[in-house]
Amino acid sequence: MSIGRPASELPPLSQEEILRYSRHLIIPDVGVQGQRRLKAARVLMVGAGGLGSPIGLYLAAAGVGTLGIVEFDTVDVTNLQRQVLHGTKDVGRKKVDSARERLHEVNPHVEVIPHETRLTSDNALEIIRGYDLVVDGTDNFQTRYLVNDACVLLGKPNVYGSIFRFEGQSTVFCTADGPCYRCLYPEPPPPGMVPSCAEGGVLGILPGLVGLVQATETVKLIAGIGEPLVGRLLLVDALGMQFRTVKLRKDPRCPACGTHELKALVDYEQFCGIRGAEEAEPVNGVPTITPAELQARRERGDELDLVDVREPNEWEIGRIEGARLAPLSSFAEALSSIDSARDVVVYCKVGARSAKAVRQLQAAGFRRVWNLAGGINRWSEEIDPTVPRY
Ligand SMILES: [Zn+2]
Repeated sequence: MSIGRPASELPPLSQEEILRYSRHLIIPDVGVQGQRRLKAARVLMVGAGGLGSPIGLYLAAAGVGTLGIVEFDTVDVTNLQRQVLHGTKDVGRKKVDSARERLHEVNPHVEVIPHETRLTSDNALEIIRGYDLVVDGTDNFQTRYLVNDACVLLGKPNVYGSIFRFEGQSTVFCTADGPCYRCLYPEPPPPGMVPSCAEGGVLGILPGLVGLVQATETVKLIAGIGEPLVGRLLLVDALGMQFRTVKLRKDPRCPACGTHELKALVDYEQFCGIRGAEEAEPVNGVPTITPAELQARRERGDELDLVDVREPNEWEIGRIEGARLAPLSSFAEALSSIDSARDVVVYCKVGARSAKAVRQLQAAGFRRVWNLAGGINRWSEEIDPTVPRY
């Protein structure tokens, strides 16, 4: 398989490019023809974060002629542990700007096309249509289904990767004969079941490992060399340092690539059960106290039981003075130690887990219980900056 144009339509290489890419040109399997294919190729990266960073850097260095980047986010200091496309000086900048600058530094021959937007059902077909291939570096299920369906509808290969903590996956979806994301995951997981990297963490090196697998597959598909990861899912276990592949089958009942009953993009937030759940659930019926209100009550000398429901490793990072630890993962056991006659304030990192704890307390008969809005991070921002945010 190779992507794009017939050999006669491939752009020539300049002398400068011949020198720059000489280590490619002397590999018989790549050669001048393969390099011209790379130069002609138009690759869309969805996301310029953890996976997008190594993907972008290496595809630019390898001489992929056109790199589109879909990204709406700005660089945050917590990104720098893994998103090597961005530097400390870029904190606060738009990721598309910092990515374009860095990629041009790597290779000025590459045209970088920023799409500073969130990929949605309204714009995905229009954006993806202009490219030969998509590399999915997103971190959420609704965008993965969206990218998948758009790629199936447009007939574009989708080079997939995902990461969590110490483990990653990669494969190539949506080729003519291969399976798609829906063949592997017909249904999204229930919302909140699978924690994101922001909630669960990720080893900073892992997106490097997985992203470079994606970049390798991209180069192979473009140059038409090797055995692509079509119909095979690569599983990366960084702790055991094992790479395994499992067979993936195209599902004839798959609504996207099997029966083709899916003829247009749908509402992916609704499909993934996200709409409303994230925003409405934590506050629905859960009494809330703001950091300022809590501080005022403490200053008045009110008797309060302040309960931290994060995990012990988060407690190690920092805590609110006077709090005690009762992780949500074993909260049922801690219930008996909480005095229902006292006022109870519960907090976590940003307020979602503590809302669950408040519900458990309410179900157990507690009446005077509050969720600290925004968690310890907001407490740090508004009340006590000596408590580290993370
Ligand atoms: Zn499918």
